[in-house]
Amino acid sequence: MFPEFTLRYARLPDRFFARFAPVAVEAPRLLAFNRPLAEELGFETAAFDATSAAEAFSGNAVPAGAEPLAQAYAGHQFGHFNPRLGDGRAVLLGEVTDREGRLRELQLKGAGCTPFSRGADGRAPLGPVLREYLVSEAMHVLGIPTTRALAAVATGERVFRRVPEPGAVLTRVASSHLRVGTFQYFAARGDEEAVRLLADLAIERHYPELADKPPAQRYLALLEAVQARQARLVAGWMGLGFIHGVMNTDNVSIAGETLDYGPCAFMEAYDPEQVFSSIDEGGRYAYRNQPWIAQWNLARFAETLLPLIDDDADRAVERATAMIQAYPEQYEAEWLSVMRGKLGLVGEEEGDRELAEAFLEAMAAGRADFTLAFRHLAEAVEQDAPALLERFETPDAIAAWLPRWRARLAREAADPATIAARLRGTNPRYIPRNHQVEAALDAAAEGDLAPFETLAEVLATPFEAQPDREAYARPAPAGAAVFRTFCGT
Ligand code: AMP
Ligand code: MG
Repeated sequence: MFPEFTLRYARLPDRFFARFAPVAVEAPRLLAFNRPLAEELGFETAAFDATSAAEAFSGNAVPAGAEPLAQAYAGHQFGHFNPRLGDGRAVLLGEVTDREGRLRELQLKGAGCTPFSRGADGRAPLGPVLREYLVSEAMHVLGIPTTRALAAVATGERVFRRVPEPGAVLTRVASSHLRVGTFQYFAARGDEEAVRLLADLAIERHYPELADKPPAQRYLALLEAVQARQARLVAGWMGLGFIHGVMNTDNVSIAGETLDYGPCAFMEAYDPEQVFSSIDEGGRYAYRNQPWIAQWNLARFAETLLPLIDDDADRAVERATAMIQAYPEQYEAEWLSVMRGKLGLVGEEEGDRELAEAFLEAMAAGRADFTLAFRHLAEAVEQDAPALLERFETPDAIAAWLPRWRARLAREAADPATIAARLRGTNPRYIPRNHQVEAALDAAAEGDLAPFETLAEVLATPFEAQPDREAYARPAPAGAAVFRTFCGT
């Protein structure tokens, strides 16, 4: 029932990982199984019933051909370098080749104490597992590169965080789990050979077009390619009001996917200073900082590549620095392209950036819900839409902005109905709203999966109006908004 496994990472020298089999759990019970994804990955899904799926995706039955291992990595966490993190509770089973011929890694998260656990329990509570399941699948449907969720299994065991909680295991699917922190682990040890092996693996797996470049250009080109994907990724987050929450270098995927859904959340009322994570006291990873933190993380990546970029140390720094300095312009271009899409613009005009910024300012002034303000633009293409204006506590700024926007739309080579359809296909009606997510997870912890399943269903078609599901489109009622997410993951 499992497709055939390979694992390119396991062919690397021993110092890259610790072989480690998942620790069996007491009473595995299937909570969620992503059949469409399983099919995309080449699973024989008909062969799975709830029992066999629970066995396989809890780690109790390690599938044939898997080479379970925990990966070594380091990372800057909130700016502080930790030379040894590694998979403290995750086990990489192997890669499968999906229906389109792409390699996809399968990892069990919450699979027990590994040699990298550093005194922690190696397990994951059910809440964060289901949260990652919901939010990563939602992100995928919203068009953002991301790891995926294949299954969630309750363990029948308790994990102890602030209070005892039911435990669970998540099966995560990623293009790879190579991170900036993987490179840092070896760079910090002065292990240049290992960094080169990793860089070559990253090129083989994610940037094969660079393989033919001469070594003197190849690794700078790798930095450039990773940088381009980060710029695009973060611009995508910004366009959804998504706040990652833990943009540590160990959570930065070399493949450019959103990785690690810890204390992440979507903004409701627009506030660029918004922070959710309870552990992010300084606001390092606030919404508005994300693009610049990505650049900081890329600079850490660049440092690991210096010896490969140029034999001459000074020249290596010069070349890498010039690359990193090009990031703001690249990011701004990605952001503008996201914003044009969100405003229904296909053509490109000089004043578009200012127009987008003015909309955000109007939103900030009116404390408008980020998602709905964009969504209701589709109704306001030709005339003021009450639903849009209602989102703004103070209507002056938005009222002044709308005629400007319509004048700009008039110069698009499309009729209003086409523009409105374009807007509805770009600006979602449904996002994982924190109060809805929390309510679904609370019910699941009590054994009631229905709210989780309904929410997952709503989020599967976020661009379509779902008339009987309107409650899911609405921001949290006053007093019920969730402004803190806990990293008790
Ligand atoms: P994260 O905050 O999820 O990015 O994790 C940072 C580091 O802490 C990684 O090395 C994780 O493997 C490790 N870690 C997080 N939670 C646990 C846990 N419950 N048991 C062991 N290691 C953990
Ligand atoms: Mg992590």
